[in-house]
Order: sequence, then structure tokens, then C-alpha cells
Amino acid sequence: MMVQYLEIKENHPDSLLFYRMGDFYELFFQDAIDASEALDITLTKRGHHNGADIPMCGVPFHAADGYLSRLIRKGFKVAICEQMENPAEAKKRGPKSVVKRGVVRLVTPGTITEDELLDARSHNYLVALTDASGEYGLAWLDMSTGDFYTQPVQANETNLSGVLLAALARLNPGELLVPERLFLREGLSDIVNEWRSIVSPLPSSRFDSENARRRLEDVFSIKALDAFGEFSRAEIAAAGSLLDYVELTQKGKLPRLFSPKRVRTGAVMEIDAATRRNLELSQSLTGGRKGSLLATIDRTVTGAGARMLGSRLAAPLTDPSAITSRLDMVSWFVQEDGRRMDLRASLRQCPDIERGLSRLTVGRGGPRDLAGIRDALREAGRLKSLLSAVSSDQLPVGVINCIEGLGDHSTLCGVLQSALQDDLPHLARDGGFIASGYASELDEYKQLRDDSRKLIAGLQADYAQKTGVSTLKVKHNNVLGYFIEVSPTNASKVNTDADSEFIHRQTLASAMRFTTVELSDLEQKISGAAGKALAIELGLYEKLVLEVLNQVEGIAIVARTLAELDVTSALAELAISERWNRPKIDDSLSFDIVGGRHPVVEAALAKTSEGPFVANNCTLEDQQRLWLITGPNMAGKSTFLRQNALIAVLAQMGSFVPAEEAHIGSVDRLFSRVGAADDLARGRSTFMVEMVETAVILNQSTERSLVILDEIGRGTATYDGLSIAWACVEHLHEANKSRALFATHYHELTSLTSQLSSMSCHSMRVKEWQGEVVFLHEVTSGAADRSYGIHVAKLAGLPHSAITRAEQVLETLERDGQAGNLAHLAEDLPLFAHLPTTDSTVEDSDGGNTMVDHRLKEVNLDDISPRQALDLLYELKAIE
Ligand code: ADP
Repeated sequence: MMVQYLEIKENHPDSLLFYRMGDFYELFFQDAIDASEALDITLTKRGHHNGADIPMCGVPFHAADGYLSRLIRKGFKVAICEQMENPAEAKKRGPKSVVKRGVVRLVTPGTITEDELLDARSHNYLVALTDASGEYGLAWLDMSTGDFYTQPVQANETNLSGVLLAALARLNPGELLVPERLFLREGLSDIVNEWRSIVSPLPSSRFDSENARRRLEDVFSIKALDAFGEFSRAEIAAAGSLLDYVELTQKGKLPRLFSPKRVRTGAVMEIDAATRRNLELSQSLTGGRKGSLLATIDRTVTGAGARMLGSRLAAPLTDPSAITSRLDMVSWFVQEDGRRMDLRASLRQCPDIERGLSRLTVGRGGPRDLAGIRDALREAGRLKSLLSAVSSDQLPVGVINCIEGLGDHSTLCGVLQSALQDDLPHLARDGGFIASGYASELDEYKQLRDDSRKLIAGLQADYAQKTGVSTLKVKHNNVLGYFIEVSPTNASKVNTDADSEFIHRQTLASAMRFTTVELSDLEQKISGAAGKALAIELGLYEKLVLEVLNQVEGIAIVARTLAELDVTSALAELAISERWNRPKIDDSLSFDIVGGRHPVVEAALAKTSEGPFVANNCTLEDQQRLWLITGPNMAGKSTFLRQNALIAVLAQMGSFVPAEEAHIGSVDRLFSRVGAADDLARGRSTFMVEMVETAVILNQSTERSLVILDEIGRGTATYDGLSIAWACVEHLHEANKSRALFATHYHELTSLTSQLSSMSCHSMRVKEWQGEVVFLHEVTSGAADRSYGIHVAKLAGLPHSAITRAEQVLETLERDGQAGNLAHLAEDLPLFAHLPTTDSTVEDSDGGNTMVDHRLKEVNLDDISPRQALDLLYELKAIE
């Protein structure tokens, strides 16, 4: 057996080998060590190899999915090796023969189809990146849904890694295929590093563009690939490598795929990886989906709808007419209250058939996948009549296309409806899923089986009477089949003489077992009938699957249409419940938002008692293309910046927006430089990260772009920072000419308005009231006069003494002018001059008590919580 194991393992060095032995998948050697650690299961040993113990661990076959998903999530690949015959067959070849085994499938992060291993609400893309003829190309597919795309990569040497990182951040691949030769290529090491945990390096030969072209033409049965669009050689090579890899992992079986669709350069709004992260589009800064824009806007009711919403949000469009047609559909659903509600009720009944369909095509489906298709087709029919009831001249084109996409699958739906029973098993292999009345032969065998079972049940009473043992039972197990059982004390009452019908089978300490000819006959009838019934059921299953697969293209289009109806009606629902409005998108360079809000902050505020969200306008146009926004921290600058970027993203994905009105000239690229976190993994300081991101913006932003910059230059010395911020504003204004929002705490920058004709100053309104500062969160024109930083420091709980000190320093600075000599200042305001002379730093005879006194004076008891009071008590105790 070990010889066989090692032979198979040799062919799968990169995967953990799940080696099937009876009811377990066993792992050996290093695989066992790795898996036991990753899964936290016991490591044991079995036998020896080259004089050493062989480490081993195993997982039960029926629970394998759970273990698999944990391994895949941790970045492992798994080769599933099954027994290809039953042990009895092996024995026939000789007593020492080993059961034949073979790898039936490779499970890799990008090629899974099981619901248990996938997130229902997001795509799982297998992505390939390669180059050919000096150009790069990307291709990606979602094996569980059949989506298949390619995209050329337009980049030069300097921006290659940025462009690729942006594209990959958009796709968020489950697995990334890269030819080995690219690993050493300059500019690509960043990518390999960033996505290291999911990169699968492949031999360069798998990316041959000519082979790939032939494979694609072959798979999609077309003469020339041009039929699907003009692909570059690199895109073809990437797409071909995907097919190749899927076939390799599925051992020759290819799932149904849509023909590859090309995403033209410039067709989607480009959003670089940092901006995507900073704006928390699909993921919040802390990780997960919760708190992201996607989570806030998601009102979809199906998995496929949620996936489509995620894809649309990740890739907003740039073509105004494409965006308008999406918006037309949303508008229609906004107006059609009743129809929208009916539609959504119907969609809620729709199972996720995209993934079921994929499983059926690779032979991993089951009766429940068929039932899913049945239910979805039934709802599709219902939806079609619902939408067709409206005269087509009142329908937007998108809805008319959907009606067409829903097709007519009533025949297949009818067949599935009559063939499948209500309660279905997960797997076809044990039968029990065909409804009675569908196949008369099957019903007859089932009848025979059930009648015989009834007869057997009747025999128990019969035998009990004959023997006089009232506790006599007829039982069944897998070894003996049916048998009669009595307790040992009653055994003598069962007559086993030669002329008696009872035949002894087994003696146990707790029971005596018998059989009769009648019982064995019935048993044979049952098992014969059950076997035949199962064979018929399996035959019917194959036929039903075939019928589904014959219409696979049409059903896939139904699935996509249902997703589209879900997304669109969900966006309409969102627009109504959150009072969002339809934006106007065109080719102009406008950016005019009236009463804009930040959807995520607004939703968060709604859950608290803090006042309502304050809406703000933003108009970036000729005289004020660049807004310089000043105002204290916590006044709402970042929120304002981000909300405008989010409104652009939402509008261009085809959604209504959180604003009273919005007119946006299509944005080609969105850039942001907001907040900053140390990128320690790559050895970059906060300031370095900030500068790298700023460089990207100044190098790439165009007149069509939208830029939001928050506090550039904060991470360095004041004058350094101010100079950098100054230069950035000038560059953006003069060279990039982008629409931009620039928040800064360098008030000096406001003086630039006199020279920069398209820059205007704005600030966050603040009110001083009874010595307190109130943030109104309102954007007004004009520069801010003060920073109120000390106020924020007070809110944050800096010690009272530090606050007083800061106020003194500020006062002196303001009095002496900014450029005053700081050394001189230090002399004027000796350290702790503001503290009482009995400060804890001054030792005196009564040291401890003075410190206690001082500490007590420092706190305002009304400001602290009971918990803080207790902490304080401990602190004072320690001083004593
Ligand atoms: P800044 O960037 O000026 O430091 P933020 O944008 O981070 O300020 O806002 C600080 C807090 O103020 C936010 O977390 C939010 O709770 C609140 N806030 C911001 N903008 C608004 C608004 N328009 N309406 C109501 N509250 C707001």
C-alpha cells in the first residue's frame, strides 16, 4: 500500500494527499504533520519507512468538507485520492492485492464548487496573469458560476505594478495563476508578495497563446476566437491557462462556462488598491464585510444577486449610456411598488442555481441541485408573466432584456416537478428522490419492496404466537440481514429440530438468533426489489441531469437574469428606504452634489443618539474645481471627502445616491489619499506610504479623475509637510486639472487662492458656546480661523494639566507669531511652570501625600465613571 501511496504522492507534490482508506481519508509523512497542525487533530503513526515511523493523521470521509474548507482557507491544496474498486474486487486478484486508487480531483482555492466551501454572497475568482508579445493580460473565471472574462493590461514599466495591483484588488482572487518566469520580472515581485498566499506558479509552457487559442475555440465550438471579440495574445494565453488548470484539477471535466467576455480598457472606473481599501468599498478597514459600503447597501435576497452587486460595486462603469440603462431599470422598480414587492417575494424562493448548475456539469451535483433548478425555473416563469403584464413601451430596455432572458423552460420545469419528490437526499447514490407516479416500473419495485417489508413485520406476530415468546422480535442488520431474535432464557422455546421451520443463526450472550426459509425468501425479494428500484432511480437521475445539461446555456442565462432582477430591485428598495435619488451621469466634467450624505456614517449615526447626519453640497466646476477644506479635527472633513467619492462610485455602478441631487461627469479614475497606516510588512513608514500614494495620484490623475486628499504631509516636520502639501495642491491644479477635494490643517495653504484660479476655500463650521466648541458638520465657503485641536485633545481625555499647558503654549505662540524662536519660548515657559509647586515631580518631606493631593486636584469627580473612580482609588493606594 505504501508503494502505491508514494507513487501517487509523487505526482502531487504540491498538494496534501487525502488517501481514502475505508471510511477515512488518511494523510502520511509531512502531509500528516502539516494537516494535523492546521486542523488541530491528533498525529499518530503507522508502520515504518526507511527505518523510521510514518506520521499519519486522518479525517472521516463523511465530514471531509469541513476539514477541506479549513485547509483551503489556510492556503493548502488537496488531492482527493479515492478507491477505484471495492476491496472484494481487489481480493479476487490475489490475497495481497491493494485496492486500486486514483486521484479524482484537486481541490484548490480557485476551483471549488461546494456550497460548504464557498461564500454564497461573493464570487470566487480563479485569475491568470501572463504576458505575450511584450504586453500583459489578465483572465478570470468563477468556476462555480461560469463567469469568464479577460482584460488587457495597459501599463508601462513605471506603473505596471500599480495597475496590476489595482486590477487584482478589484477581483480579489481566490487563486492566482502566474507563469514561473514572471516571478523574477521587475515590477512583478510586489504582486507576488502581496498575493503570495494564493499564487499558484505554473510552468511557462501552460501559457502558450497558440495552444490556448485552439483550446478556447475547441471548448466553445467556434471556428475563430474573434467571434467573441478582439483579444490580445496575452489575454488569450491567460484565458487558455485557466481552462487548462480547471481541467487539470477536475481531472478532465470542464464546467459550463460563459464565453469569455472582454473588459475593455477604460470601461470601468479605475480604483487603485489603496483607495479601495481606504474607502472601505467591500471590506472595512478592520477586515470583514461588516461596516463596508457593500454591507450597508446590500438589500439583495439571493446569493447570485449579492455576488452581482459586489461585482458591480467593485467595478463601476464609465460609459454614461451603460450607466443610464442600469439606472432606468432601478427607476422603474422605484416607481413600480407593487410589482417590485411581488418580484422580491418570488426571488426569495429562488435557490442559488448558478453553483448547482456548475456542480451538475462536473458530475458533483445531486437531487437537491435538480430541485433548485426546478424551483428557480418555476419562479422565472412567474416573474416573466409578472413583467410581461406591462406593455413593453412602458418598460425600460433592461427589463425587456430580462423578460427575454427568463426564456421559456416550462417543459423542463414540468418534468422536474413531476419527477422529484419533496424531501430530497443530498446525494443521488442511495436513491429515494423520484416521486411516486413518475415511473411505473420504479413504483412496482418499490411496492414489492414495501409489501415484503410489511409481510416481514407481520411475521413477527406470527412467530411470537407459534413459539409462545411474546418478546420475540424480527430485526435487521447489515451482516445477517433479517433474523428472529429471542432472549437466551426463551431460546429453548424455539424449536430447531430438523422438521421445524426455525434455523439457528447465531448465539450471543444477550440473544439467540434464528431465521426461516420464508424470512430469507422475503428478504431476497426485498433486496432484489430495492436494488432494481435504485438502479432505475439512478438511471432516471442521469436522464434528468442530461435534460438539464441540454439546456444549460438557457438556464445559465435565467440564473444571470434572476441575479440582475435581484440587484436592480434591491437598489430600488434601498433608494426608497434611505431616500436616495437618481444621479445624472454624462460626459461633462461636472461634479455637483446637493445635500450629499455618507451612507455608512449615516447608518452608524442612526443607531446612536447623536444627532442626525448633516447633508452637504459639493460643486467642483470651473472656478472651484479644487476645494481646499480646512477645519478642526473631528469636524467631519474626512467624512465629507469620502462621501463624495462614494457618491461617484454608487452613481457609476448604476445606483441611486445618498443626495438630493447629483450631476456627475463620468469619472475615469478615483484616487484617494486618506488616513494612513504603517505598512510594516513592507518596511514602509506611514510617511513613506503617504508619499507613495501621493506620487501615484500626481503621476496618473487626469482631468476626468476625481481625487480626494486628506491631510497630506502630516507625517513629517511642519515646514516639510506644509511645503509638500503646497506643491501637491499646485500640481493638481496646474498639471492634473482633476476635480479634487483637499483637506488640510495647514491654514497657510488658503493663501494660494489668489494664484490658483480654480481653487476655492471651504471649511467646517464650528460654534463656540459657553466656552465649549460644537462641531456643526456643515461645509461653508471660506477658510477656517482656528484649529480647536486642544478642544479635541480635551474630549479625548488628555490630563487636565497637559491641556492647561497646551493652552499656555498656544497663547504664547499666537502672541509671538508662528515663526518665533521656539528655544526662546521654552525659556519663557519653563517646564511645569503651570503646575502647583507641590507637583509630584518635586520631592518633599511628605512626598506620597503631596502626590495624592495633586492627583485628587487634577480629577473632576463629575467627569469620571464609577470604574474610573475605582481605578483612581487603586492608583492612590499605590502612591501611599
Ligand atoms: P475629521 O476628518 O474632520 O477629523 P471626521 O470626518 O472623521 O472628522 O468626522 C468625525 C465624526 O464626526 C464622524 O465619526 C461622525 O460621527 C461625525 N460626523 C462627520 N460628518 C458628519 C455629518 N455630516 N453629520 C453628522 N455627523 C458627522
